[in-house]
Amino acid sequence: MKPSHIEHIGIAVSNLDEAIKYYQDVLGLECYAVEEVKDQKVKTAFFMVGQTKIELLESTDPEGPIGKFIEKKGAGIHHIAFAVDNVNEALTAVEQKGVTLIDKQGRKGAEGLNIGFLHPKSTFGVLTELCSK
Ligand code: ZN
Repeated sequence: MKPSHIEHIGIAVSNLDEAIKYYQDVLGLECYAVEEVKDQKVKTAFFMVGQTKIELLESTDPEGPIGKFIEKKGAGIHHIAFAVDNVNEALTAVEQKGVTLIDKQGRKGAEGLNIGFLHPKSTFGVLTELCSK
């Protein structure tokens, strides 16, 4: 398993519209997609920076993963996602090296990507996502 690049950085925000304004008006990036991912109880907004995206995540349900994260830790960086060739193979490979997985199998994420999360207790506190097309 070797990631080709950082696919995106996921950032939990309390107010998506205000955060989009900051990324557009202050950083000068263009929001090219807003998408609700019902599965994860979030509304997402995407910006491209080189090969890497910024994925803003606003919770649509206080009981969802982002709702709970913001309640516990406040807004901020939520996860880092690495691009790999094949998520299922990569998940198996890292599990064999002793990493605890949140997802044993890839599942559908935003933008139709196949995604899987590694548990932060195995990744030095960083919630880590692997994703492939
Ligand atoms: Zn993500």
